[in-house]
Amino acid sequence: MGSYADGWFQSRSVGDGVTLFWEARIKPDYRCNIWHVRGRDRDMLVDTGFGLVSLLDSIPELNERTVLAVGSHSHCDHVGGHFEFGHRHIHAAEAEIMARPTRLNTVADPYVVDEMFEGEKPVGFSAADYEVKAAPATRTLIEGDVVDLGDRAFEVLHIPGHSPGSIALYEEKTGILFSGDVVHNGANGIGKLILYHTVEDQFLISVERLRKVPVTAVHGGHYASFGRDRYTEIIDEYIARKRSPGCPAEARMAKKP
Ligand SMILES: [Zn+2]
Ligand SMILES: [Zn+2]
Repeated sequence: MGSYADGWFQSRSVGDGVTLFWEARIKPDYRCNIWHVRGRDRDMLVDTGFGLVSLLDSIPELNERTVLAVGSHSHCDHVGGHFEFGHRHIHAAEAEIMARPTRLNTVADPYVVDEMFEGEKPVGFSAADYEVKAAPATRTLIEGDVVDLGDRAFEVLHIPGHSPGSIALYEEKTGILFSGDVVHNGANGIGKLILYHTVEDQFLISVERLRKVPVTAVHGGHYASFGRDRYTEIIDEYIARKRSPGCPAEARMAKKP
C-alpha cells in the first residue's frame, strides 16, 4: 500500500508488475482504476483518473522511466491526467475527443458532480467548471496494435459499445486483461450506463467476443479485479439480461454534445 499527495492517491501492488493507483477521495462509484504496468524498457499507465491532482508531482515513480499513458476510452474519469504525459495513446475513434475535449463529449456533464467526493470536495473545485484538458494522441490505436514495453506486449482489442473507441489490452503471456468500462466487477452488472455515444448492440457483440479471450486476471476500469470464472459470470449475466424478453430500460445519461 502506498499513499501520495496527502492521501489523494493510494496504491497497491496486484502482482505481475502491475500496480493499482486510485483517487482515494473520490467515491468508488465515480473514480476509475489507474493501472501501472512495469516493463523492461518502458512502463504503461492504463487510464489517468480525473486529473484533479497531478500524478507526476505526486508519484515519484512515474518520473523515473518512460510512461506510455493509454486511455481505455475518453471519458473524463479515465483520461483527465493524460495531458501530463508525453506519450498518449487512444483508439483512433476517440482521437478527436482527446484533441478537443468538451464537458459534453467527455461526459464531464453530467457525470462530474460535487457529491462524487468522500467528505469535503477539494478547495476551489466546482463541478460545473470541471473539464478535461486537451491531450492530443501521440499514437492512435486500432484493433491488433501492440503496446510494447520491451519484455511485455499488450494487444489492443477494439471493443466498441460503451463508447466508440473503447479498448481492452490483453497480454497473452500472463492472461492479464485490462478491460476498461466494458467488463468490470460492479455490483449492478455491466452495460447499465447509456451515454450519448453508447451503442448497445455493439456492446453486446464486444462482450461476446471478449468472452472467448482466455483471461487469467481481469483489471477493470472500475471496482475490484477478478479471475476467469467471475469474468464469464459477469458476461453471461449481461447476455442473459439482454436476451430476456422485456429487458428493462437502462440508466440513461444521454446528453448530446
Ligand atoms: Zn466510460
Ligand atoms: Zn468509467
